[in-house]
Amino acid sequence: MKRTLSILGSSGSIGRQTLKVAEVCGHKVAAITVNRSVELAEAQSRRFQPKLAVAVDEAAAADLRTRLADTEVKVLSGQEGLLEAAAMPEADTVVTAIVGVAGLRPTLAAIDAGKRIALANKETLVCAGELVMARAEEKGAEIVPVDSEHSAIFQCLQGCKNRGEVRRLIITASGGPFYGKNCKELSLVTKEQALKHPNWSMGAKITIDSATLMNKGLEFIEAMRLYDMPPERIQIVVHRESIVHSLVEFEDGAILAQLGSADMCLPIQYALTWPERVSGPAKPLDLLSCPPLTFQKPDLDTFRCLSLALECAEKGGTSTAVLNGANEAAVGLFLADKIGFLDIARLVETALDRVPFQSNPGLNNIFEADRAAREAVYQSAR
Ligand code: NAD
Ligand code: MG
Repeated sequence: MKRTLSILGSSGSIGRQTLKVAEVCGHKVAAITVNRSVELAEAQSRRFQPKLAVAVDEAAAADLRTRLADTEVKVLSGQEGLLEAAAMPEADTVVTAIVGVAGLRPTLAAIDAGKRIALANKETLVCAGELVMARAEEKGAEIVPVDSEHSAIFQCLQGCKNRGEVRRLIITASGGPFYGKNCKELSLVTKEQALKHPNWSMGAKITIDSATLMNKGLEFIEAMRLYDMPPERIQIVVHRESIVHSLVEFEDGAILAQLGSADMCLPIQYALTWPERVSGPAKPLDLLSCPPLTFQKPDLDTFRCLSLALECAEKGGTSTAVLNGANEAAVGLFLADKIGFLDIARLVETALDRVPFQSNPGLNNIFEADRAAREAVYQSAR
């Protein structure tokens, strides 16, 4: 199955790996988008000859337009550019590899255009999952997860005709670089240590989320939305080896798991070719050289971000948008050396306390909750 892709966030970790998959598997690229990475956007445009290249930043787009003046590639900027890339008629599949809630509007535009969504941008489902899934159902747009845990669950659910047969989803967590540390030790960790993930190489924001375990909280909410599961039927287990990517337990007690090397090319590729499987760039897993597989309970007392996310998963409404917006703002401050590691959870908790709760939000309420959450973080961080 050959696809024509629009890759939103082509300069990021998922975006670059998507291009690697496209190159090896022979998918066409109709559009790429970056925020500011002009050099990379130029190189990607020359190599993949998309019809459209977008730099969200106006000055970056002007620079890119000059650099690509000798090519046929059209260059656009801003939100309009992103939305055009998301809905462009030439693409049948949109890979949402933008980080953060910035991916929400383009994802909705791609859904409205009836595209297959290869969804990496988990923040979209955390903030507005009910709206996004309902819109996809209404427009007949397929949403296929890229996140490795959700792809694993998706793979385990193939052939399951009756979702009533599913007893539980079991999401694995690596535990991150600070597994086993206590609060006192966490108060001393540095940005450089937090940016060193033991098993995966990813963008900065998700790497910090993996160190706080917020990533697992976001993934818990993502799984609820993707698979329409109540929180009591989802379990998180720490699996240090990152070999079992997640599991599904069925009513008869059988548990199916998906195993593989820690390589995002495989879930990216499956989101493009599903229901077909083809050979691709992902490293194969050699069972005989695997370490013993271990499973443990997560430490919710020490990793407060995860317990806050689980509380929001129960509460729903605008709380998940506040959780996400506050976390994006706090992680930004941590990456800018403005706050310490434990301040991330503290500031997210403050925002959850301060921003008024709404139980049945529309899109505007979600964006307002996101804005208010960021403001609460910036005020309390001062
Ligand atoms: P990254 O930081 O490496 O890349 C982010 C991309 O988004 C870049 O192309 C950047 O230009 C673009 N971008 C950033 N801010 C933007 C904005 N305001 N408007 C438009 N574009 C913007 O991030 P990543 O690690 O590739 O992650 C992307 C998404 O995929 C995240 O939601 C992340 O949670 C999810 N994800 C990533 C991995 C991974 O292995 N990297 C695994 C699972 C899920
Ligand atoms: Mg994941």
